[in-house]
Amino acid sequence: MPARRSTGDPSSLLTLVRCRQVWGPAPTGADTLLLAGGKVAFVGRDLRPPEGWPVTVVEEVDADAVPGFIDGHVHLTGGGGEGGFATRCPEMTLEQITAAGVTTVVGLLGTDDVTRHPDSLLAKVRALEAQGISAYMYVGAYAVPPVTLTGSVKRDLVLIDEVVGVGEIAISDHRSSQPTMEELKRLVALARVGGMLSGKRGIVHFHVGDGKEGLRPLLRIAEETEIPIGQMVPTHVNRNGRLLDQAVTYALRGGTVDVTAFEFPSGESVSAPEAILYMVGKGVPWSRITLSSDSNGSLPEFDPSGRLVGMRVASIDALFADWKRLASSPGVSLEDALGVVGANVARVLGLEGKGGIAPGMDADFLLLNPDRTIRQVWARGRPLRGNLPPAATGSQSPARGR
Ligand code: ZN
Repeated sequence: MPARRSTGDPSSLLTLVRCRQVWGPAPTGADTLLLAGGKVAFVGRDLRPPEGWPVTVVEEVDADAVPGFIDGHVHLTGGGGEGGFATRCPEMTLEQITAAGVTTVVGLLGTDDVTRHPDSLLAKVRALEAQGISAYMYVGAYAVPPVTLTGSVKRDLVLIDEVVGVGEIAISDHRSSQPTMEELKRLVALARVGGMLSGKRGIVHFHVGDGKEGLRPLLRIAEETEIPIGQMVPTHVNRNGRLLDQAVTYALRGGTVDVTAFEFPSGESVSAPEAILYMVGKGVPWSRITLSSDSNGSLPEFDPSGRLVGMRVASIDALFADWKRLASSPGVSLEDALGVVGANVARVLGLEGKGGIAPGMDADFLLLNPDRTIRQVWARGRPLRGNLPPAATGSQSPARGR
């Protein structure tokens, strides 16, 4: 993706972070990170800066460094509204995002594409980028044809750096626009070509509701056209057991499926850790599973006749809580658990430099306490959250002593 990053504070161009172990997300055996200009420059053991170099040294020797989380489904400008104007969900803040260990977000619109617009979503994405994290967006909303920035999803993908795909397009849901198969095929095709022209993945991210069809429209597109199944990523697949079984089929055919960290599970929904372990148990490779929060979307409850009977706002905190439960489940490696909120998301969306800790990648990482709570959050080489480094103003950092 073209450079659109600010270089930040030149006094922190070089930072050495000493920790217990670096997970890249695979265990590296390293305990030291050298950060330079917002990137990871070197990962090694027991590195020491040469005498006199302007290096900020951070000593957190009992903390593990893991890749910053990527949340691929976030209603940055607030979703909801299904119960009238008073049920519109609020916009998110940087603090809410980083508190959940998230250093990269992908924003989107949902049911409301009238009072919510891709223009304001793009402005929010740029604001978060200026505040220090990395932010991208899907263009569109539930309905087909989708709302756009420039008049077509293809043009948006080609002309707007921040646009990584189309979504969330609703299928099998009473709130969808009941798109026809032809409309869906055409939309996926346009996104794919827009992605090809701009060097992006150009995927379509599908909101899947409780409807009878479930994932069948997407399976049909994969069967009836030459479009690869990987161009379509369904989300909320743990909404109910029936959909989860379809997700197993979908992933075994080569697709990637996104699980939602439901903060307030309904009677039918399967919790994210349980859903992921169920799919893995059925033979789905970890690499085809991602986890997202759906935060600041609404969690409306409807009665059997479709009448709205309740409404809550989804929180991004659910992502870290569900991730922690997954990571501490028996038989789950830290590497696999980190992949569903990191490397897998980066691969599916084509986010270069994201989802790992390795030389050349963006310096987005978390320092986790031994009990796997968050101690510090770093994004593009800068500390954004936590008990910020006493070492950063210490003897080894003359450049900071202004
Ligand atoms: Zn959704």
